[in-house]
Amino acid sequence: MLSFTTTLKELEEKYLKREFPEYKSGLISFGSNDYLGLSQHPEVKIAAIDAIHQYGVGAGASRLISNHELYEKLEKKLAKLKDTESACVYGSGYLTSIGVIPTLVTKGDIVFADKLIHSCLLDGIKLSGARLFRFNHNNIKHLEKLLEQHRKKFNNALIITETVFSMDGDLAPLDEIYRIANKYRAYLITDDAHGLFSKSAPAHIKIGTLSKAIGAYGGYICGSKEFIDYLINKSRSLIYSTALPPAILAASIKAIDIIQSNRRLCELPIKKARIFLPKAKSQIVPVIIGNAKKTLKIQNDLKKEGFYIPAIRPPTVPSNSSRLRLSFTALHKDDDILRLKKCLENI
Ligand SMILES: *Cc1c(COP(=O)(O)O)cnc(C)c1O
Repeated sequence: MLSFTTTLKELEEKYLKREFPEYKSGLISFGSNDYLGLSQHPEVKIAAIDAIHQYGVGAGASRLISNHELYEKLEKKLAKLKDTESACVYGSGYLTSIGVIPTLVTKGDIVFADKLIHSCLLDGIKLSGARLFRFNHNNIKHLEKLLEQHRKKFNNALIITETVFSMDGDLAPLDEIYRIANKYRAYLITDDAHGLFSKSAPAHIKIGTLSKAIGAYGGYICGSKEFIDYLINKSRSLIYSTALPPAILAASIKAIDIIQSNRRLCELPIKKARIFLPKAKSQIVPVIIGNAKKTLKIQNDLKKEGFYIPAIRPPTVPSNSSRLRLSFTALHKDDDILRLKKCLENI
């Protein structure tokens, strides 16, 4: 029999028990992935409200039963932004991962994935039944060694990595990985969940989310028209789940319009991050503490100073690498960033 009590107690003893954080207004949050502040943008809000007035709230059915006209508009914009022939929107980034990967590989195939990829990509790989090899984080030499050793014994091969790593904020060497992927006849899938839509990096298949920098909700994949036609026929999380609410599609469309008409907006989050840490590689800056208990204590101390910073613990990050994950957005005030920096230095 499963014992919920034992499991919860064990987690608690290791300082690894998770709880939804208490909602506290008034704290300055460095925990949001709404990097461009678009979830709060007046024009995005109006687009969503107008869509509710025009179309209602829920979508009512899956896309294959009733496909809203706003999907086509949004997908055209995404394909253009990502420099691909076509795009397809899913219910979320998670649903994109678990829906796409199993259509590409199965038993007898092989996946090479960076050691730090997001759990939803791992779930997609698990569902596919393909054999998985992990390469050391951003380590091209290790990836190539694994390809050299194992590629030949399998049919299809995938390489999976992230553009901007969600918990570390560093960037994958995509030009090199793409070159190696072609050399070994492997498809490269990149997850751009934390990308800011400022530039498009090489990959055969690009996935991402509308739930972070776009400020709305949903996931997407960009690739060839033929591949997307294939997904419409084969991808289970696309076929067997209700379509997104029209208001979310309208908000995403408006958010992309805003990004395209104001390219400098996408540069703001990293500028903010560099006020905190001049050598920040992206808008995500981890402050690695190591020990889970200590990380929670510092989180709590910062709360008393008026800051909300998420404490990220295993299994989201490797053991002994518990951290405060700071994410900087276009809306942060420089003074608040400087005060946070001072508080952390004192702690
Ligand atoms: C957040 C995230 C996802 C999931 O996207 P959702 O739209 O939140 O489901 C996928 N991949 C990475 C790397 C993420 O950080």
